[in-house]
Amino acid sequence: MNDYEAIKKQILEKIKEYDTIIIHRHFSPDGDALGSSLGLRDILRQSFPNKKVYSIGTDEADYLRFLGKEDNINDNEYEGALVIVLDTSTEKRINDDRYKLGKEIIKIDHHIETDPYGDINYVLDDVASTTLIITDFLISFPNELKISVEGAKQLYVGTVTDTGRFRFKNVSGYSLKLAGYLLDYGFDTEEIYSELYMKDVKTLHLQGHVLRNFKMTENGVSYIYLSRRLQNRFKVNVTEASSLVNSLDGIEGSLIWILFVQDENGVIRARIRSRFMSINEFAMEFEGGGHAQASGAKFTKKRQIKTMLKRADELIKEYKMNNKGWK
Ligand code: AMP
Repeated sequence: MNDYEAIKKQILEKIKEYDTIIIHRHFSPDGDALGSSLGLRDILRQSFPNKKVYSIGTDEADYLRFLGKEDNINDNEYEGALVIVLDTSTEKRINDDRYKLGKEIIKIDHHIETDPYGDINYVLDDVASTTLIITDFLISFPNELKISVEGAKQLYVGTVTDTGRFRFKNVSGYSLKLAGYLLDYGFDTEEIYSELYMKDVKTLHLQGHVLRNFKMTENGVSYIYLSRRLQNRFKVNVTEASSLVNSLDGIEGSLIWILFVQDENGVIRARIRSRFMSINEFAMEFEGGGHAQASGAKFTKKRQIKTMLKRADELIKEYKMNNKGWK
């Protein structure tokens, strides 16, 4: 048995040991955070109907509402409970501080490990999504774990969103096999894709603005800043504005692209994407983080945008000088 098989067994034993299991995820949930949380809740409820299993989150994303509802629970539920935190690389990103009230914590994640805050840490940074780690966990114990069609859909949605519809470099043959396993449960993919990718007219108008007005640095960082004022002008909310990050994907020679979005509190969120190049260490220089080709950071001072662009531009220059085959 290799280490991963042993750790999966250990996690299953822990789950069996506890009567109450509470699942947490990171702030500002994306498809992977919510999909893995609701999907694991479904697996545990289907497999262990006598246990109390909850999925916790205090903030939400409108576009993911179709995935299902999280739970509201009292603090006393945490007493003697097992807490499982999903898709959350650092302790400070865990949504709802009450995760500390549980008896033990299991961290399950696919971001590069920088903060092993769990009593058990099951972190696979080469796996494309946390939902795939959960799906692999599910099929590792066919006699003990099961899932409903709804749960399979929740895991599938997290997989689709975190892999950029199976396009990112970290998608392996095994990723597709696991996704195929979920797909065979027979949920309606047309419904999923229309929930995820349909844009309303006002967001498309803002996309037009992004395409007309984005800028590019000397060596190829494409970027645009979407202030609250601009969002108000187009009558879009922060989530709708943030969804436009991929509008800057596929520009020749632009190996890094960054969408800066100001939220209601004035905080500027940088959504950073790249091809060929790795950008998570760059994001960490700005106290952010993430994956090799999809990272993020947050700051409050607008002048940070300039600093960030300057650094990203240097990195592209260096990359282009030392590498071939990029486009
Ligand atoms: P986003 O652009 O928000 O979808 O983020 C892309 C990836 O970067 C996600 O996997 C996030 O977990 C990670 N990320 C985003 N913002 C931050 C941050 N402020 N600190 C650390 N990681 C982040």
